[in-house]
Amino acid sequence: MSVPRFWRRIHSLYRLEGTRCAKCEILYFPERNRCIKCNSNELQPFFYSGYGKIISYTWVYTPPKGFNSSIPYCLAIIELDEGPRLTSQVVAVNQDEVSIDMLVEFAFRKISSEGKEGVITYGFKFRPKGYPNHKKK
Ligand SMILES: [Zn+2]
Repeated sequence: MSVPRFWRRIHSLYRLEGTRCAKCEILYFPERNRCIKCNSNELQPFFYSGYGKIISYTWVYTPPKGFNSSIPYCLAIIELDEGPRLTSQVVAVNQDEVSIDMLVEFAFRKISSEGKEGVITYGFKFRPKGYPNHKKK
């Protein structure tokens, strides 16, 4: 993500922001401009609680180029408490700790840094629900 685009999106990166259709109330993540259910373009910002559970997961041993996380890392499909599903890395877990239905919470984290200028790309990750902020793993 470019730096200007990052700053335009910073509010949605600090919180898990999607949209909600004003007509049929369906929720979207990520945000959409038009409802795919009723075709309305009256979509309003919606902030998710940031809580959800793991529906499915895998361990990635071969990350994309420039991806600096330690290997392997956990990549999961997460169902938010409000319903929508998304794919996210789950941090602060060992392989024997992750399970289906495990409760997780949104965590704003650095994703990667690029090139010698060190442009840092931010994005969201999830961690076990109630995981203390100060604890490092
Ligand atoms: Zn709708």
